Amino acid sequence: MTRDIGFEAALEAARTGLAEGGIPIGAALVRGGEVLAVGRNERVQNGDPIAHGEMSALRAAGRQATYRDTVLYTTLAPCAMCAGTIVQFKIPRVVVGEQRTFPGELELLRSRGVEVEVLDDPRCVAMMEAFQRDQPALWAEDIAE
Ligand SMILES: [Zn+2]
Repeated sequence: MTRDIGFEAALEAARTGLAEGGIPIGAALVRGGEVLAVGRNERVQNGDPIAHGEMSALRAAGRQATYRDTVLYTTLAPCAMCAGTIVQFKIPRVVVGEQRTFPGELELLRSRGVEVEVLDDPRCVAMMEAFQRDQPALWAEDIAE
């Protein structure tokens, strides 16, 4: 597997979140091969239920005149909230670390013309499997189960 700087940045953000006691999901917004911003799930750290990794990366990127030339990387398949934001901001391409541990809303994205690539990265799968096993209540809270 080739190293992709956007994906590696998202994975690093997820690991940072885990080290902080948070939910290990990270994201990165990339333009022209450069990482514009990274974010991680900060539900625990900030007491913010909306601060999913994708939302945190978009917040960190600040105002953008357009997203049509960007790629959003995320370690886990986006939920309905994040998928809706991707559609709203017209982000054309999303690269997903894995969708084994959470199916997400990939069909919603595709139905709205978003190109979705799933890497099925074993590091992401292992991290989320361990987290879901060790913190089932926190995981259920994050996905509103
Ligand atoms: Zn989300």
